[in-house]
Amino acid sequence: MSDLLTFDEIAPFLHTNYIGKNIIHFDTIGSTNDQAKITADDVPSSNGTVLISEEQTAGRGRLGRKWISTKGKNILMSIILKPDMMLKDAVKITQIAAAALVCSIRTLGIDAYIKWPNDIIVNNKKVCGILTETKSKLSKIQYIILGIGINVNINSNEIPQDLIKTASSLYIESKNKISRKKLTADVINNFEKFYNKFLIDNDFNSSLEICRKYSAVLNKKIYVINKNKKYEALAVDINNNGELIVEYEDLRREKLNSNEISIRGEHEYI
Ligand code: ADP
Repeated sequence: MSDLLTFDEIAPFLHTNYIGKNIIHFDTIGSTNDQAKITADDVPSSNGTVLISEEQTAGRGRLGRKWISTKGKNILMSIILKPDMMLKDAVKITQIAAAALVCSIRTLGIDAYIKWPNDIIVNNKKVCGILTETKSKLSKIQYIILGIGINVNINSNEIPQDLIKTASSLYIESKNKISRKKLTADVINNFEKFYNKFLIDNDFNSSLEICRKYSAVLNKKIYVINKNKKYEALAVDINNNGELIVEYEDLRREKLNSNEISIRGEHEYI
């Protein structure tokens, strides 16, 4: 049986109405998010199309950072979304995806948490990152690319030395080999469920409740890093827009938007 993340392998586990009905599979690619942008621009009917690659040669994180991955062992995918939505609401997609991911990983019996805004952590190490990118015109969304990278079956020796303290995989943390195709399908299933709630029923709260319940930062002392400056703060809430509310030492409160902020723990990554 093939262990590639092709449509034929994933489809038996998919229960969605439209996300993942078209899966474009690559053996190798620069970045699935970059390719997804090209597809979103070129193909009008690409809403819900998922791009998956076994390997990325130019994987990206936020703020120009790199995303590293070993070929054939992880999940690297980008979902194209073309909602009728204002740009200001696009940040919510990251929280909806985080809720879906934490649920899927918890279904495997792994205690996963969300490090606001865009990382999933297990035992305080990052096992998954989300990179949401948008194209808009006059404050209206043309498309959203939801990039998801999950470290699934890699060993410790496949994690680059400089990330060893902060990164891990589901296999390392659970000692179980995980079916990439079932997990891929489950993430897409969960994502469509929460995304539809938001889009159709105007219910963002279902996702938010999960983000709050499994937050790795709420009620903790954190560092807010903004353009090389580092401020100590207490994470007090995630508000109804999905923004993090922090309180500084002088009791001043601030709403953090996910775009320019990185969160760090008191000592290490969290
Ligand atoms: P953060 O949310 O930690 O501020 P990003 O979301 O931009 O950062 O993710 C990119 C960062 O994640 C990189 O700078 C690197 O430190 C780390 N990283 C890169 N690849 C991986 C990976 N496969 N697993 C975990 N962490 C990674």
